[in-house]
Amino acid sequence: MRKQIVAGNWKMNKTLTEAQSLTSEIANMVADEAPDNVQVIIAPPYPFIYAVQNLIPEMGQILLSGQNCHSEDSGAFTGEVSASMLKSLGAQYVILGHSERREQFKETDQELAKKVDAALKNDLKVIFCCGEPLEVREANEQNKYVTQQLTNSLFHLSEEAFKNIVIAYEPIWAIGTGKTASSAQAQEMHETIREHLASKFGKLAEETSILYGGSCKPDNAKELFSQKDVDGGLIGGASLKSRDFTDIIKSF
Ligand code: PEP
Repeated sequence: MRKQIVAGNWKMNKTLTEAQSLTSEIANMVADEAPDNVQVIIAPPYPFIYAVQNLIPEMGQILLSGQNCHSEDSGAFTGEVSASMLKSLGAQYVILGHSERREQFKETDQELAKKVDAALKNDLKVIFCCGEPLEVREANEQNKYVTQQLTNSLFHLSEEAFKNIVIAYEPIWAIGTGKTASSAQAQEMHETIREHLASKFGKLAEETSILYGGSCKPDNAKELFSQKDVDGGLIGGASLKSRDFTDIIKSF
């Protein structure tokens, strides 16, 4: 049975007090309403990770994630945060390869491979994002594009290391646009991703959680999560509202 996961990517939003309130609200709602088998992950901005840690229950249904990390453990990299720092703050996951990092900060597949190594070396699990821009989808080249991203950044891993990877398929044209991939489009790509992972990691691909991301909301989550190869969601905008986020979690 694959792990069902709903992860909230808060991006660069909230003040400290707002982050604390949102975390407390999510913690209460998850305790009262969420199915026990869903792993909930929240990814607040770096400065808030430590500050919200004591607001989530210890039993681990909610875990913390960074939104990015550097590939080095320490050094002269002004403004950057390392995987070991995230680990020391209480994070158990890190999101890598988000399309905003790829586009705005010019992160390459090769650099992401190093970040993946740094995260795993520091005992963080990775939510690895992949997904195609609109022009690639329009040219019907999305399968080639996404599988290449995975090959370039993940196929150097050992099977043991790969067990700590969660994939998030996020078509760029659906992120923050209100335009969701149809459940059929999501399922088709998730199946393609799983087959591609199986070509390198064999049976492990069946155990790998593949999340969908891109304008996932309470009113479309059920349909998306009911697809055979969709194991949950990476949620942006809707993760900033405790009610919406919890309703998505309840959509399994
Ligand atoms: C994201 O940025 O990871 C995301 C899925 O955003 P949104 O849900 O707002 O489209």
